[in-house]
Amino acid sequence: MVETVVSRRRSKRSYDSLMRYAEFLGYGEVHTKIDEKTGLKAIIAIHSLRRGPAIGGCRMVTYPSDAKAYEDVLRLGYMMSYKAAINNLPHGGAKAVLIKPAVIKDREAYFEKFGEFVNELGGRYITAVDSGTSPLDMDIVAKRTPYVTCTTQRGGDDDPSPLTALGVRRAIEAAVKFKLGKDSLEGVRIAVQGAGHVGHSLIKDLKERGADLVVSDVNLKALQHCIDDFGVRVCPPEEIYSQEVDVFAPCALGAILNLEHIKLLRASIVAGSANNQLAHRHYGTVLHERGILYAPDFLINAGGLIHVAVVYDHGDLARSMEQINNIYFTVYDIFEQSARENRATSEIAEKIAYERLHG
Ligand code: NAD
Repeated sequence: MVETVVSRRRSKRSYDSLMRYAEFLGYGEVHTKIDEKTGLKAIIAIHSLRRGPAIGGCRMVTYPSDAKAYEDVLRLGYMMSYKAAINNLPHGGAKAVLIKPAVIKDREAYFEKFGEFVNELGGRYITAVDSGTSPLDMDIVAKRTPYVTCTTQRGGDDDPSPLTALGVRRAIEAAVKFKLGKDSLEGVRIAVQGAGHVGHSLIKDLKERGADLVVSDVNLKALQHCIDDFGVRVCPPEEIYSQEVDVFAPCALGAILNLEHIKLLRASIVAGSANNQLAHRHYGTVLHERGILYAPDFLINAGGLIHVAVVYDHGDLARSMEQINNIYFTVYDIFEQSARENRATSEIAEKIAYERLHG
């Protein structure tokens, strides 16, 4: 997405440049709440309301500076809009960032105050769990606002990774069908970069379907976990790009699809969970020109967001899984359009999402 390049160019941001960044990303509202008593320092960035109330998780992490937190919330809220739009959710995108204090003296009071903040926005923002927050925290938030989901009573799960992995696996299946003409993953060779939360779930799923896997991770413990659980082959991190495989599944870091790595790829398909995989948006076209089928990251890694939206709209896990399964058809349509029009899949997906957000 377009923000990738812009956000990496500037490491330190002045207030003016943050405002410009918000404007550039097409923001409507950004709200701040500071509460000395509880230690709450929260930012809620509502990117778009055009398709419905804005939805997105609430993350609580430490930041080197308030400006970094501001930049993060803007980047994430924007991404939520694109994920929601391309997956046809009746929601705009938003995100909340809680700047984690050194100590939270009273977690109950802290999250109640955050719940009041969400409530003041009158339903324009719906919150949910994200890094650093849990369904129990959302239970506290729910005491102060109805605009919350992923509580222990309502679809709450600490870990959305299996649902994210489901969407990625469905995209791999669609790509394998489109590019290799195969209806199953039996014997399909897949290189997975990153054996963390999503990677581990994905590897399990792929292994169960008979894929031939090679895995890399810089964390030897995570790698060993995968060897013990699934008996996969492993390779050093720098060798994952050049593996002789059908599919490369990046599930670790953003910006890994740069010119150097693209040149190394032997895979004819790239489909993984990592956010912002293209180091520059133009590299979507480079992949296309090299005959590599790229499944756009923001489309296929939206399983967690789809679940949050479904649960908020009174659906259950079965309904979430049904919608996540549909990623197969959404991405397949984009592959077909890409072949018809000789255009990069990333470009097509971005355009569809943009038009849904602005049309
Ligand atoms: P995670 O931190 O649990 O796992 C990432 C793994 O990648 C770790 O094991 C880490 O050691 C490994 N890694 C880091 N650098 C590496 C390198 N150079 N080579 C190989 N491995 C490396 O994270 P996660 O939750 O599994 O998410 C993975 C990616 O998917 C991230 O980019 C994340 O933003 C994205 N994503 C995750 C979710 C989700 O539901 N967790 C949803 C959408 C997108």
